[in-house]
Formats: sequence, structure tokens, C-alpha cells
Amino acid sequence: MDYAELGKTGLRVSRLAFGTLTIGPLQRNIDETVGSVIIRKALDAGINFLDTAQSYGTYNHIRRALEGFAGDVVIASKSGVAGYDEMAEAVEEADVVSSLRYAFDFPHLHAVAVGMLTEQELDVNLKIYYHQEVDAEELASAGGDKRMFVVKFCKGCGNCLEACTHDALSMVNEKAYIEHSKCVLCGYCRKECPHSMIRII
Ligand code: SF4
Ligand code: SF4
Repeated sequence: MDYAELGKTGLRVSRLAFGTLTIGPLQRNIDETVGSVIIRKALDAGINFLDTAQSYGTYNHIRRALEGFAGDVVIASKSGVAGYDEMAEAVEEADVVSSLRYAFDFPHLHAVAVGMLTEQELDVNLKIYYHQEVDAEELASAGGDKRMFVVKFCKGCGNCLEACTHDALSMVNEKAYIEHSKCVLCGYCRKECPHSMIRII
């Protein structure tokens, strides 16, 4: 695994970062035990850079993955709350993840983390990273097709629409409609639905 300095922070991070959004409740909602095994496998493979957020709901997955892990891990987290007190609470909540280092408050740093849902998907991504050959069967078994969809009992309140910055959501026949060709599966619309009508499969 190659490592690079994260901006000018002095933090050395793996060039392949593990994005935890996909395993959390906004997306596949993988339970903590299974999710932590996938993250731990990534750590064991040399990935030392994890991306999370308060809204991702993956702090416990990460905490369990770190149990007994001796390496140095950098965790990037973020929160969308406004106000000092709310942010202090958000930091405190993140602080339960571990006593390791954090990359907080670097608004001008940009990195891409790869969300991985299964150990097979991790293996495939590691192969791609190392420029190794990946056959079609491995690719197919790695992640499978995922889609965001709106449950038919959608109340038509429209709360979710503003959360989508990809113009993938609209109202059709008084129900939310997702244009899959535009949807990037970020899951941000899910947390805006008070009725849990948006799912990923
Ligand atoms: S998952 Fe993201 S891109 Fe897709 S509809 Fe929801 S907010 Fe838009
Ligand atoms: S927020 Fe939920 S209930 Fe409201 S329109 Fe969107 S999917 Fe439907």
C-alpha cells in the first residue's frame, strides 16, 4: 500500500481510503459485527484511512474494527450541525470511536474514499489498486447492483427533494421519484424522510 501526506496535516494516509457510508444505515445498513469485519480486513490490508461522518451512523462499526488493532489509523469525520454547542457534541460523539488520531476541520482538503460493502468488494478494490487483473466474475460477485428506491407508501411530503444535489429526485403523481441514471447512491435523501420511505437494495 502506498501512503501520502494528507494535505499539509502531517498525517500519512493510504492512497486507498475506506468510505464507511455504504455500510451504515443510510445505505446497506450492515450490522456492526459484519461491518467491522470488513473494515478490519481493510486495516489489515494496509488501508489506514477511514472516512465517516456523524450522519453515517458508522462510529460503532469503526470502533469494533479497531478493537485490538495495533496500527495507526486516521479517521476523517464531519458533521453538518450549526452552532458551537452542537458541534462540540458532534466531536464528543466522534471521540468515542477510539483514542487514535482524527482529521477534523480541514475544509479545503479533498479526497475520495471508496465505499465497500463486502469482503469480496474490498478484495476487488485492492486488486484494482495494485493493477492486478480482475475478471468479470469477481467484479459481478463483488458488489452487485444497488439501487435507491422509494417505497410505494411515500406520503408525498417532498422533504427529501432538497437533499439531492444530483437532480435525481422529483415528484411524480404526488410521490417521490428517483431517476436512477442520476442517482449516485449517496443516501442523503434517506435521512430527510421522516417516514423511512427511501431504501437501498
Ligand atoms: S441517494 Fe443521493 S443522489 Fe440518489 S436520490 Fe438520494 S440524494 Fe439523490
Ligand atoms: S420525504 Fe419520504 S415521504 Fe416525503 S416525499 Fe420523500 S420519500 Fe416520500
